[in-house]
Amino acid sequence: MRIGHGYDVHRLTEKRKLILGGVEVPYKLGLLGHSDADVLTHALMDALLGAAGLGDIGKLFPDHDSAYEGISSMELLMRVMEMLAERKLRVCNADMTILCQQPKLSRYLPKMRDSLAQRLKVPEERVNIKATTEEGLGFTGRGEGIAAHAVVLLEESE
Ligand code: MG
Repeated sequence: MRIGHGYDVHRLTEKRKLILGGVEVPYKLGLLGHSDADVLTHALMDALLGAAGLGDIGKLFPDHDSAYEGISSMELLMRVMEMLAERKLRVCNADMTILCQQPKLSRYLPKMRDSLAQRLKVPEERVNIKATTEEGLGFTGRGEGIAAHAVVLLEESE
């Protein structure tokens, strides 16, 4: 078995969609980034790549490459999953935490879980997504950005 950790941050700004775990969350602000800036999926991909010893998404999908401009992070996640499949690695489980003051995310978590479990090719019970605030402290507390952590376990398949 192999464990991996991922962490990511994106800034909140006007005139952008807020996409988390492939799910669009209605809010007056969205995340800024070269791709769709899905901070949760980025943390998850870095955890997957970390567990597989394959580096990180910045190396694989560089933000100076126009091929990735505005790309859906779910598309990138599928590419990461193909790389794992080539190495006969499959996901055992994934646990994630979103650090976000606003908006309230609880009602969207089941949809994110469903969306990510499908891409990870595991039953929903093997994917856990939590959301917490940082009690008004720091950049997430001030609503300047959203951060996400992910931990995954991979196992070698036959
Ligand atoms: Mg990112």
